[in-house]
Amino acid sequence: MRALRLTAPTVLELCEIPVPEPGPGEVLLQVGGAGLCHSDLHVREIPIAVFPLPLTLGHEVAGTVDGRPVLVHLVWGCGRCRSCVAGRDNVCTALGRQVAPASPGLGPQGGMAEYAAVPVSSLVDIEGLDPVAAAPLADAALTPYHAIAGELGRLRAGSTAVVIGVGGLGHMGVQILRAITPARVVAVDLDERKRATALEVGAHEALASDESTAARVLDLTAGQGADAVFDFTGVQATLDLAAACVAPGGALRVVGLGGGTLSYPASGDATALPWGVSVTRAYGGTRQDLSEVVALARSGAIAVHVEAVPLDEGVAAFERLHRGDVDGRLVLVP
Ligand SMILES: [Zn+2]
Ligand SMILES: [Zn+2]
Repeated sequence: MRALRLTAPTVLELCEIPVPEPGPGEVLLQVGGAGLCHSDLHVREIPIAVFPLPLTLGHEVAGTVDGRPVLVHLVWGCGRCRSCVAGRDNVCTALGRQVAPASPGLGPQGGMAEYAAVPVSSLVDIEGLDPVAAAPLADAALTPYHAIAGELGRLRAGSTAVVIGVGGLGHMGVQILRAITPARVVAVDLDERKRATALEVGAHEALASDESTAARVLDLTAGQGADAVFDFTGVQATLDLAAACVAPGGALRVVGLGGGTLSYPASGDATALPWGVSVTRAYGGTRQDLSEVVALARSGAIAVHVEAVPLDEGVAAFERLHRGDVDGRLVLVP
């Protein structure tokens, strides 16, 4: 079969390899589509081998098992630890305190291929959805959903949510906020085209990202700031913006892995976070979150903006994402 693999650090190639043999607890998935995420770019760019190579990339994977359409949960928890048993599989502790649970394409072999061997316990039924359109739900919708669902208590009538970064995850974050909360949604992005997308998918306001953005959020919220800020970028400038526009008692959810650092002085001076702010750094979402995401997609409340690209053009697709020349999500189709 064909597979898009990292064969050495920074070397991405389309390879011809044997169809994988499912191990214990696994099934053979015929891949329908695999979404291309910023994390894949990040993995390609790491100059050392952090995962065993060669590695087939792809952690947003959908397809069919024996003809049934299924979506692969991004988090392959152990299923046995205290967190997994409690349904918090995205904080599975099996691999250690500082290590995220295993995910396809980020350790185990991923889904940018014709076939993938996947744990049967990772599958969620997507009957009625197109696997190409559904594949990015596995991360681009699951991860924002987990972050937003965790703040429903703050996102009540009259509240304001800020979405920073309207890329693959952010454009889903806006839709999920509109689908499951009554909050006013303020989107922020550098790119005018992405601000237009934000408004199309339901944002009430779309602000350019510059020195005045925090002040504009404060203006929109009577000087108090946003009840929840979702940073889908995670670079220094966006984390600084998030801290500068969150309300007292609000939530700051750091979702993007852009390499910035969030720090604040413990004392109550002008540069500190407002009192009562809660900061959460979560990995992916739970399998229950994924099934709720699928329900939203089935109802038509959310949809990924998808552009299908043949798997054979996968290397070029990585270059496009690297240039920022993508609106929504590219999905590689074998
Ligand atoms: Zn991802
Ligand atoms: Zn576990």
